Amino acid sequence: MIRKILYSPHPVLRRVAAKVQKFDDTLQVLVSDMFETMYAEKGAGLAAPQIGVSLRVIVLDVSYATENPCHKIAVINPEIIAAQDSKEFNEGCLSVPGYYEKVTRPSKVVITGFDVNGSPFEIHAEDLLADCLQHEIDHLNGKLFIDMLSPLKRGMARRKVEKYKREHQLD
Ligand SMILES: [Zn+2]
Repeated sequence: MIRKILYSPHPVLRRVAAKVQKFDDTLQVLVSDMFETMYAEKGAGLAAPQIGVSLRVIVLDVSYATENPCHKIAVINPEIIAAQDSKEFNEGCLSVPGYYEKVTRPSKVVITGFDVNGSPFEIHAEDLLADCLQHEIDHLNGKLFIDMLSPLKRGMARRKVEKYKREHQLD
């Protein structure tokens, strides 16, 4: 089922999401809905708080731009355990529609987490995948990419979101 995306400055986007405790059917449905919503909205990643669920769950698919063979990735309770180097990435966010800007982040990260069945795994990511993972994990900590920008640019982002909501008659 496609879920409704929350837009900045919705308060749920600013909450620190809780760890998933049960790897049950509800989680399976959540992850499957998150993929469906992400593809419908043409996003490269989605975090559960963006659909109003304050849990540490992210989904990604960066296969449109990389040769990474594992295209559909869901990580439950993800943690960044190592980060190095740094690079400028052009980011956007489904919760900040219509706005894109460059931010600087580590370009190589190691992430640990669990799959939807509760099995632990590790991802060694670089470039776009590393960027996307960090962006989605930020959502779980109540952070948005626009927080890294100057007040001037944050103001531009806010106006873009307001314009988008007006044009699409969203609340
Ligand atoms: Zn985002």
